[in-house]
Amino acid sequence: MEDEPMLKIRSRTDCPCDSGKIYHDCCRPFHVGKAQPATAVALMRSRYTAFFFRLVDYLVSSTHPDVREKNLREELDDMVDDMMWRKLKIINKSKGTAEDRKGKVEFVAQYHCDGEFSELHENSRFRKYKGQWKYLDDKG
Ligand SMILES: [Zn+2]
Repeated sequence: MEDEPMLKIRSRTDCPCDSGKIYHDCCRPFHVGKAQPATAVALMRSRYTAFFFRLVDYLVSSTHPDVREKNLREELDDMVDDMMWRKLKIINKSKGTAEDRKGKVEFVAQYHCDGEFSELHENSRFRKYKGQWKYLDDKG
């Protein structure tokens, strides 16, 4: 993924996760495997950005192996093509620090799908696997 030309161009632009940092210094190191998100929020942001850039490999690898369904990649492939992500807003979080093993992040992500504006409001649960934060599920 390091040599993908589009990612090089994008690396100078603002990160889609709305952190105020450029992509190169924000979610990109996670996407190219140069660093690991230290917190559940950082992983959540990097997954949003991966949806934005349609980085299905990253979405699969950042999903907890316990919930990685066989058809996850196909489902994600379909999903990322249909959705145009607009904005991420983190609303709340609990635990999920570098010292924790579990964490929750509540967020709203705005997107367009088939020309319609929509919002995804999710309470995501994250859990560490082999010392790395992974997405577990949505508790609604
Ligand atoms: Zn970011």
